[in-house]
Amino acid sequence: MILFVLFDKIKNMKNLLRTKIIATIGPASDGTEKITELIKAGVRLFRVNSSHGNIQEHDQRIKNIRKAARELNLYIPIILDLQGPKIRAGILKEPIYLKEGEVITLKPSEEQGNNDFIPVDYTGLCRDLKIDDVILIDDGKIELKVIGTEPEKIEALVTDGGILTSRKGINIPKAVLSVPSLTQKDIDYIKFAVEKNVDYIALSFVRSKKDVERAKEYIKSSGGDIPIIAKIEKPEGVDKLREIMEVSEAIIVARGDLGIEISIQRVPVVQKQIIKEANLLKKEVIVATQMLESMMHEPLPTRAEASDVANAIIDGTDAVMLSGETAVGEYPVEAVKIMRSIAENVEASGLCKYNTFIPPDSYICSEDSQIIANAAIRMLEQTNIWAVIAFTRSGFTARLISKAKPGVPVIAISDNRAVCDRLNLLWGVFPYYMEFGSNFTEEFLRELDDFLVQNTFIKNGDKVIVTGGMPCMAAGTTNFVRIHEVGAQ
Ligand code: PEP
Repeated sequence: MILFVLFDKIKNMKNLLRTKIIATIGPASDGTEKITELIKAGVRLFRVNSSHGNIQEHDQRIKNIRKAARELNLYIPIILDLQGPKIRAGILKEPIYLKEGEVITLKPSEEQGNNDFIPVDYTGLCRDLKIDDVILIDDGKIELKVIGTEPEKIEALVTDGGILTSRKGINIPKAVLSVPSLTQKDIDYIKFAVEKNVDYIALSFVRSKKDVERAKEYIKSSGGDIPIIAKIEKPEGVDKLREIMEVSEAIIVARGDLGIEISIQRVPVVQKQIIKEANLLKKEVIVATQMLESMMHEPLPTRAEASDVANAIIDGTDAVMLSGETAVGEYPVEAVKIMRSIAENVEASGLCKYNTFIPPDSYICSEDSQIIANAAIRMLEQTNIWAVIAFTRSGFTARLISKAKPGVPVIAISDNRAVCDRLNLLWGVFPYYMEFGSNFTEEFLRELDDFLVQNTFIKNGDKVIVTGGMPCMAAGTTNFVRIHEVGAQ
């Protein structure tokens, strides 16, 4: 009964969308005014995609996002997405029509291609490919089968034809490629990300935990400490999901390349497995690509797209991401508004598995911390509570509570602005900056009440749950939970 009352309350809380919407920024969305409009429509994180554009353009985009966020007084994290070892066809003199049944030549080359050969920007091509390997070009629209390998070229049979234009992506799902996980371009972008103090770095085509560890070393040697979001889009990444998650801070189900690499048919099941595993390990998880694809050119999505967004949220994702829809689409703001209202409907339905109690045999973090988080969740079920206030220096306490999907908002209070920024990726978490010491004196509780009443939807007389780690409130030391009536001191 209490739960239903709370759902009704939450329905009336404006600006408290708990599912986080990520917008990829691009020519359709990169001015400060448009960014402000997108944030007002519901965007809580932006992705800067290094696969397109150049460093100067991205620099300006980052400045514009920071400016808009400052003006709106919100913590809006920026994810810099590294292109990774994406193999591409080179420049062609003119589009080539590849006809089913014909044999064509591919070779690593920087020369312009023509009807005689297709240049490829990967030098290890002839070494790594074997007879019968399948080559997919342009998101799988063109399919080739390797029928001959020589030290300097590959002969391939066109098994599914089409028109090939310059710089199209190439995927070779079955081959074990010796391509390094970070290209020189990625390394340059890591330095840029550290310089610009972005909040997350997304790592493409992750194949094992070593890829993540290598990126962390580069971040560290560039003087930074930026969390990594591993993009799962290769069969090796799916196979080594657990070890990759253990060393990453978050995960993206990168359905674009994943759909080519493991086949479209397997994507829905793998998506569910990744979300489940991420929630178990208490890592943030993002579902990405083609969520509202038709809105690139139409003002409304299809029913199937609306269901896709809703189902990802019901499965337990922290965030849903828009790609081309906001980067180059014709309806970027409308896409965000639609995504937001789909999420609001799911959240109001109670289908997000609210107040999930984490069973002791699946404790991942320190036992005491999980017991406290579980206690907080149980308390929510038994009292009329408006919010959980999580004091969090590293983000740990907020993450623990968020992963239990509480039925009320989590107001995360940190005395570290970088942590506040990062916390906006977490489902149901609303970050605030406030300085605090290591003990809860009566005077501090009065200060807290004033802060909550002035800055949040909470009013005097409302009951909240307060949790954190005392006395030092350091990472991984969540050790107290209490019910607190605001304004009662
Ligand atoms: C994807 O492949 O789904 C993805 C998110 O990566 P990108 O947009 O960089 O291709």
